[in-house]
Amino acid sequence: MFGGLTHEPAINLAKHLVDLTPEGLDRVFLADSGSVSVEVALKMAIQYQLGKGHLGKNKFVTIKNGYHGDTFGAMAVCDPVNSMHSLYAGMLPENFFIEAPVSTPNDEFNPKELEELEDTLACRSDTIAAFILEPIVQGAGGMRFYHPEFLQGAKLICEKYDVLLIADEIATGFGRTGKMFACEHAEITPDILCVGKAITGGYMTLAATICTSNVATTISESRAGVLMHGPTFMGNPLACAAANASMELLKTGQWEDQVKNIELILKQELKPASNWQRVTNVRVFGAIGVIEMSENVDVPSIQKQFVANGVWVRPFGKLIYVMPPFVITTNELKQLIHGMLKVVKSL
Ligand code: PMP
Repeated sequence: MFGGLTHEPAINLAKHLVDLTPEGLDRVFLADSGSVSVEVALKMAIQYQLGKGHLGKNKFVTIKNGYHGDTFGAMAVCDPVNSMHSLYAGMLPENFFIEAPVSTPNDEFNPKELEELEDTLACRSDTIAAFILEPIVQGAGGMRFYHPEFLQGAKLICEKYDVLLIADEIATGFGRTGKMFACEHAEITPDILCVGKAITGGYMTLAATICTSNVATTISESRAGVLMHGPTFMGNPLACAAANASMELLKTGQWEDQVKNIELILKQELKPASNWQRVTNVRVFGAIGVIEMSENVDVPSIQKQFVANGVWVRPFGKLIYVMPPFVITTNELKQLIHGMLKVVKSL
């Protein structure tokens, strides 16, 4: 365990994370999975508010269509419909859900999309510890891309009401959207940032919750004195070593050209699908390509067809999407897209 001990791989990883994440995020808490890092972020926010003497600020506000993990605290901020809150009725903490922004990064931003957040905080900020969302790209809750100005405006509104901003970059972190972190599209620093998945290049389970010094010191100087969370495998040295190897690769900067190339090819090759009858939308952002169908797809049947065409794709609902590894070659990517399109065209 990591209580009262430290070790070189964890120290190096913390330094890498402070270097790579937006300016101002300089305290690192290592966790063992993405969901746990979200639990930690929620607990940090509550303990921060307690430290400030705000005893009633212990709920969260979030946008619909979000996904933050499968543990109870994380589930309680996932989209209530997609994550089937009804199954756990009475067991989940109740939070505030506002409409997700609709302006995409290519549209002109409609500032009205921020009104519901402002209204919610104006009425209920005495009960709200933090606003949690996935910056720019909503992943498993709908594969939606939204306008960076929403995030910029949200940060200012949160500051006004002493509500922390938690950015869940578990899916978007480490280059996936074309920037090292999706928050950079909006040039904001959240108070708390969750990272996971690609932190070890996908080799081992590890995640981190990174916060500002203001959040960390407020917690340390509060009655509890420490953040009340200590998973046995936090800071696991082997996982940290894998993460450090991945951070060294990221620091070569090669990922930038790789992601640009993937984005370009996804845009070019997926384009024909936008004219097909059962396709309602084709969208690409960074190394993420999405085909949205007019109806839910029959997953077991469509997966068999993908495999018969030599590719592995896992759709959900109306969404057929790919998030290829950055090392994919141009030929492999084209093979993936063409295999996918062949099946979609035949639907
Ligand atoms: N948040 C987001 C945005 C995610 O994409 C995921 C994983 N799909 C999680 C949280 C949960 O991470 P994990 O599966 O490692 O618990």
